[in-house]
Amino acid sequence: MTAHTRLALRLTPQRRAVLEALRASHDHPTAAELLSRVQQRSPGVGPATVYRTLGLLVRSGLAIEVNIGDGGGARYDGNTGPHDHLVCTRCRRVVDIVQPRPDLSGVAGTGFAVTGYDLLVYGICPDCQERWGTADAEETYPC
Ligand SMILES: [Zn+2]
Ligand SMILES: [Zn+2]
Repeated sequence: MTAHTRLALRLTPQRRAVLEALRASHDHPTAAELLSRVQQRSPGVGPATVYRTLGLLVRSGLAIEVNIGDGGGARYDGNTGPHDHLVCTRCRRVVDIVQPRPDLSGVAGTGFAVTGYDLLVYGICPDCQERWGTADAEETYPC
C-alpha cells in the first residue's frame, strides 16, 4: 500500500447527498456552506455526517480540498479533473482555470519524486474591479 491508494467509498444515501450537493456547486464552498446546501435538500443529514463525508470524498479522489490561505478553512471542489485555481484577493471567490501544466524542471536534482503540486493565481475579479478598481488595497476588503 502507498499513500496514494484510493479508498473504495461506499456511497450511502447520505454520502451521495453530500457528493451531489458538491457537484452542483461550482464556487468551491466551505464545509459550512456545503452543509446548508445539503440540508436544503436533505434536512436529515447532520453536520458530523457532512464533515466526515467531505474527508472521505477527498481521500477517495471524488473531491478536492482547496486551501486559499485566508484562514477561513478549506474549500471543497467536486471538479476532480486537472485544473488550477484563481482567487480574488478582495471577495475570496475561487474560480477554476485550465492551463498547461507548469514546468517542473526545477525539481530535477532535488531527489524528490513529485506527487503533486498546488497552484493558486491571485487577482481581482471583474465584480470587485467594478466596485473598487484594480488597486490591491487590503483595507478595502468587504466583510
Ligand atoms: Zn472579487
Ligand atoms: Zn476547482
